[in-house]
Amino acid sequence: MEPMTFEPSPLPTNRSDLINRLKAQQTYDVAIIGGGATGLGVALDAAARGFSVVLVESHDFAKGTSSRATKLVHGGVRYLAQGNISLVREALHERTRLLANAPHLAQPLAFVMPSYKFWEAPFYGLGLKIYDALAGKSALGPTEFLNRAETLKLLPTAQQAGLKGGVKYWDGQFDDARLALALARTAARSGALLVNYCAATGLVHEESKLAGLRVTDLESGQTLAIKSRCVVNATGVWVDQLRLLDGQAIGRESKPMVAPSQGVHIVVDRSFLPTDHALLVPKTADGRVLFAVPWLGKTILGTTDTPRNDLAREPLAFREEVDFILGESARYLSKAPKQADIRSIWVGLRPLVKPQEDDGERTQALSREHTVLVSKSGLVTVTGGKWTTYRAMAEDVLDNCFAVNLLAKRPGGATANLRLVGAQPSSHKISAPPGIHLYGSEGPAVLALPGADRMLGGGLTEAMVRFSARHEYARTVEDVLARRSRLLFLDATLAKSLAAAVAEILKEENKVDPHLEEFLAMADQYLALPTRERNWPDG
Ligand SMILES: Cc1cc2nc3c(=O)[nH]c(=O)nc-3n(C[C@H](O)[C@H](O)[C@H](O)COP(=O)(O)OP(=O)(O)OC[C@H]3O[C@@H](n4cnc5c(N)ncnc54)[C@H](O)[C@@H]3O)c2cc1C
Repeated sequence: MEPMTFEPSPLPTNRSDLINRLKAQQTYDVAIIGGGATGLGVALDAAARGFSVVLVESHDFAKGTSSRATKLVHGGVRYLAQGNISLVREALHERTRLLANAPHLAQPLAFVMPSYKFWEAPFYGLGLKIYDALAGKSALGPTEFLNRAETLKLLPTAQQAGLKGGVKYWDGQFDDARLALALARTAARSGALLVNYCAATGLVHEESKLAGLRVTDLESGQTLAIKSRCVVNATGVWVDQLRLLDGQAIGRESKPMVAPSQGVHIVVDRSFLPTDHALLVPKTADGRVLFAVPWLGKTILGTTDTPRNDLAREPLAFREEVDFILGESARYLSKAPKQADIRSIWVGLRPLVKPQEDDGERTQALSREHTVLVSKSGLVTVTGGKWTTYRAMAEDVLDNCFAVNLLAKRPGGATANLRLVGAQPSSHKISAPPGIHLYGSEGPAVLALPGADRMLGGGLTEAMVRFSARHEYARTVEDVLARRSRLLFLDATLAKSLAAAVAEILKEENKVDPHLEEFLAMADQYLALPTRERNWPDG
């Protein structure tokens, strides 16, 4: 047993206190727009180095792509196949740091690639040995060749017809939205001010140099100006909107840099893959990758990579994508999931970065690495990359700020070993159903709140809802059921059935409308089978 680390009590996130702090006349060192993995990572890094930091998020933290990942903390075996060694090596090292800094939310996960052709196991096994070698000391366990019986022991529901054996290797998995909250709260503990439901609606330039931004508190409608030495645009697939505003203000045309590509996930019961091992098919019949990942008591199947032109907040799956996931799952699982087995369907948009002359239509060819651009006025834009590398991306952003003298240099590495709020080794697996263990060292603080023994359902108690309102910035039913707990992503029908009870508790805590009706309408989308054919390239 490792010794318990000292945990200061979590800071309360009372909305009027946050807004009052936002109103205070102050020039920040760093203002960040966007509260996904990227922006929160920058906020934490800058605050940990002692800079004054403010971050605004137009919706909820991780409402965008950062709650819709495949939940893998990984080097990216498929990027290895593409020969992108530097991306893989960096991600493998960041993987280790993430698992160490948030062990209650991110853990090692063993993957099995079943092989149905004689060449597959030696071919992929060799690649995975290189993966292990690149990880070096960061390796989580050795790659192993499995015979047929060993493969079936680890993947009891793998398709048996034609199965020859398999390869087992190690990566990690995590709860993405809760990790985002842990980043936000750790940044707040380091002095940063973070406000959700507060949109950046304008940029303020002085003599062609960016001097701050205008924000709107979406609860009160009030608009405020924030002064900052450095403004970071970390708005994911939405970065081009602010780049356009910046360009217009200084009379320069800015070409769009993001080509959005959507990825769909389908969630089914654990009975389809009753194991703590993930299944990876590196090359489906049409050359795509398929994952079946045990996560929070269910199985995630996915994903797709479909270009689209619009930037919907709640993008919908295309019929072809759902057919692909179900069809390929049926080829590799002995119990084939059917449409009626779907508990939830969710879609995320990848901010792939395109070369300036590219038409953005071939997403496989676009960069999976992150990009940092500093405009003539000083707007620092960061997008692309992966959740796994958020920390390294944040260091890169700050290095860019130093390079153009927006900030005076301070040494890096501040977050390399910084334990996030709640960090505590856990004997519970992330693949197990959700519960109090996901709160790590904050478990006792949750259990001390009223309603700790009132289970609403799906591992969510009344006390957890209260905790989310008091300490985790939750304002709406969606905040609680989609991101503090992950029930919308796990079982949208169950989430709907708990929504009214959650709304009552939130109303009591926050004294504002928790937007119950909006949640119920949105949850229907997570259950609806798509009727739309892919309509590419017009979205
Ligand atoms: C299908 C899919 C699967 C993935 N799986 C994995 C995986 O398994 N592992 C992994 O490491 N990575 C994975 N990724 C990549 C990873 O999820 C992304 O790289 C990461 O989440 C991007 O974070 P972000 O902060 O840049 O963007 P986002 O999370 O989208 O955050 C941007 C934020 O900016 C906010 N915003 C926009 N405009 C404004 C404004 N004007 N004012 C204020 N706020 C604004 C948005 O509301 C949003 O919250 C996956 C991506 C996809 C699409």
